[in-house]
Amino acid sequence: MQDTYGRNISYLRLSVTELCNLRCRYCMPAEGIAKRNHAEMLTEEEMVRAVRAAARLGVTKVRITGGEPLFKPNILSICRGVCAVEGIRETALTTNGTRLEALAGPLRAAGIRRVNISLDTLDARKYAWMSRTGRLEEALSGIEAALEAGFEKVKINTVLIGGFNGDEVADLANLTRKWPVDVRFIELMPMPGSGLRDEEAYIPCSKVLEWLPEAQPAKVHDGVARLYRLPGALGNIGLISPLSNHFCAECNRLRLTADGHLKPCLHSGDEISLKGLDEEGMLEAMKQAVRMKPRQHEALSAREESRSARPMNRIGG
Ligand code: SAM
Ligand code: SF4
Repeated sequence: MQDTYGRNISYLRLSVTELCNLRCRYCMPAEGIAKRNHAEMLTEEEMVRAVRAAARLGVTKVRITGGEPLFKPNILSICRGVCAVEGIRETALTTNGTRLEALAGPLRAAGIRRVNISLDTLDARKYAWMSRTGRLEEALSGIEAALEAGFEKVKINTVLIGGFNGDEVADLANLTRKWPVDVRFIELMPMPGSGLRDEEAYIPCSKVLEWLPEAQPAKVHDGVARLYRLPGALGNIGLISPLSNHFCAECNRLRLTADGHLKPCLHSGDEISLKGLDEEGMLEAMKQAVRMKPRQHEALSAREESRSARPMNRIGG
């Protein structure tokens, strides 16, 4: 379906849980978040129903996210259900990777075609500090397991954080020479509840190009990422710049939170609940959400907080 500004809405990001085993400082409070009443959250059946409604709207791509989707006990069954929906051609999942060693093969067998893995540092002590509860070696084993499991594409997502990983951009980019992966650098977004909000924490993507003088523009296109390539690399470098160069004009997505709220825009507080609706009701709600998509979000900068009304773990990134 086309929205008011002529954008074709073809992509749904489906968050299957708000909970996570990590507590990344830019995403979650140190104490984590309270587990919500089961009855407030979408059931597996409702998630698949929502994807069926989305497919009728014209959605062809679904990304499963969270919280941490791989800590959802019925994640494989959810993935099988989503991947079986007629019309959904591209199925992807975003994870912190810490459970991928065990789950990469079963996820591929369930029909997931692409995986994005979050990795902000290659230093074990820094990883433990930023994630508060995580171990780098688990994420690295997860990446290797994903590469062995035969996904069509494996991407690594790195949030750029001043004073934390600016000095590692070259090392992280060099992973594209070691593995057939794309490494995408993402500007830190000022989300509510983020513990990293000072201006020093913000690094614009333009810095990455200064730090990677060998990177050449790549000839391929990848959604909202601008792509570059290092000589001899097996994958691309992606730059995703929600602050310095917002990509609202190309926004083709809807987000569905784990508690059943459709978000027409990541950085707006507008939401429509799908909880308890049948497929027709969900389809109507989705049409309304598409009509509500703003031309672009309100100003967003290191000083201007997102109006999303939810922290990132409760939206799904
Ligand atoms: N737990 C999974 C993971 O970490 O990949 C999936 C959910 S997480 C919310 C999705 C993505 O959002 C991750 O790549 C994470 O780094 C990113 N993210 C979280 N908070 C962010 C922020 N304030 N700015 C930019 N990206 C953020
Ligand atoms: Fe968990 Fe992902 Fe948020 Fe980190 S970014 S706390 S892994 S949901």
